[in-house]
Amino acid sequence: MEKTELVVLGGGPGGYAAAFYAADCGIRTSLVDIEPNPGGVCLYRGCIPSKALLHAAALLTEAEEAKSIGIQFSEPVVDLDKLREWKESVVRKLTGGLGQLSKQRKINYVQGRGRFLDASTLEVESADGSKRTLAFDHAILATGSRPVRLPFLPDSERVLDSTGALELRVVPKRMLVIGGGYIGLEMATVYAALGSEITVVEMTPGLLPGCDRDLANVLARRVSKTAKAVLLETKVVSASPAATGIKVEFEGKEGKTSAEFDVVLAAVGRRPNSENIGLENTKIQIDKRGFVTVDSQRRTGEPTIFAIGDIAGEPMLAHKASHEGRVAVDAIVGKKTVFEPVAIPAVVFTDPEVAWCGLTENEAAAQGRKIEVARFPWAASGRAITLNRTDGMTKLIVDPETERVLGVGIVGPGAGELIAEGTLAVEMGARASDVALTIHAHPTLSETLMESAEAFLGHSTHVYRPKKPAETAA
Ligand code: NAD
Repeated sequence: MEKTELVVLGGGPGGYAAAFYAADCGIRTSLVDIEPNPGGVCLYRGCIPSKALLHAAALLTEAEEAKSIGIQFSEPVVDLDKLREWKESVVRKLTGGLGQLSKQRKINYVQGRGRFLDASTLEVESADGSKRTLAFDHAILATGSRPVRLPFLPDSERVLDSTGALELRVVPKRMLVIGGGYIGLEMATVYAALGSEITVVEMTPGLLPGCDRDLANVLARRVSKTAKAVLLETKVVSASPAATGIKVEFEGKEGKTSAEFDVVLAAVGRRPNSENIGLENTKIQIDKRGFVTVDSQRRTGEPTIFAIGDIAGEPMLAHKASHEGRVAVDAIVGKKTVFEPVAIPAVVFTDPEVAWCGLTENEAAAQGRKIEVARFPWAASGRAITLNRTDGMTKLIVDPETERVLGVGIVGPGAGELIAEGTLAVEMGARASDVALTIHAHPTLSETLMESAEAFLGHSTHVYRPKKPAETAA
């Protein structure tokens, strides 16, 4: 039996960040994953390949839209094999780099499928069936999540999940996207730009349920132009292979309808990978949805085992996982630490991008908390106008008593980068006046944060909306 101080099960952005940090802290660390290199879903089948394809989609869309400013390109020719190879080279570069970083840190990287035999032993089975056993002092569980399967969808190469959609085998003519969430809308952005006719079906009354409506509505307006149809409050009730596609039956407000598609992408959420890893051989608890129960240090019911990332609960985001990983390692080395972020940014990399952090208007209403909302429309931003993209908006959620920024929402190209300033403001407890008094470079989209803070204070330079006398007196 091999001995290790720490074993990390799962090499995604949670697991590898935890393992690397642990090694940097001087802990003898083993990292177990089924892939040849660290990376997890994020690098192999998620964030990274999807962003590569979204970059290609943005180029196509910008070239097409350049017509309106007097620049006309000939019709683009997309070499699908080359695009796929480039996307795969991005994945190879990053995962290979992580493999190198792991070696440099002298991490014992074990390729295979891990399973707890008890609270201090992990068995790892390789692809050839051979088994190794690792005895550990501590373990961090970071096995992530997988797409939810809709039981009525047929087994067919025309039915894809996010992994299949990222393979980019074909550009279908007629594509149905089931689920108007993160994955559905990002993939719809890619395939629409490549020329597919997209139908999105979403069972709730709006796209990106849970996201602020001011933000989601801007995206919805754009999607209503780029997609053939968006079916809200509609469910897919059955699907079956037909001669030239998949026949899908919908149930919505107007009753039942049906249509045929060349390809169907199901993106209806993800579920934690908490089965088949031997949790039953430990005191680790899981909840009804399959998430591992953890405390504020990410410690499970088994004092020496921690859980981080998608398996440890919402939000299922890579950057939340890597921060939890650091907290778990700090707890292992005995530092006083807790995972208590005020703001975890969320970014949907659609066109336009949608990003938010901290408190939302909906959450404030649910908590009965008094807030003030300041909005800055990008139609008033010089930079947005020069980019020919005025469909964005920046909004701040502010505590009217303390004037602290509690939440930030941004929709527009580049929102995913801009949200970092909002996250810092919320996390540092900045007041609206701190954001307003910080000099922002001109002309940039970042000024929209400063101007929304100015709007809260009643004196945004580029929007004339003075505070009512009662507001100024208060
Ligand atoms: P999601 O929860 O974002 O969206 C799923 C959508 O499907 C919801 O809008 C839901 O109402 C809808 N839905 C569920 N069942 C349905 C049905 N039968 N018919 C029609 N609609 C249905 O889930 P996702 O898009 O699969 O993404 C999963 C998770 O992965 C996300 O929660 C997110 O944490 C993560 N993710 C993040 C990013 C990012 O950070 N940019 C990108 C992709 C995925």
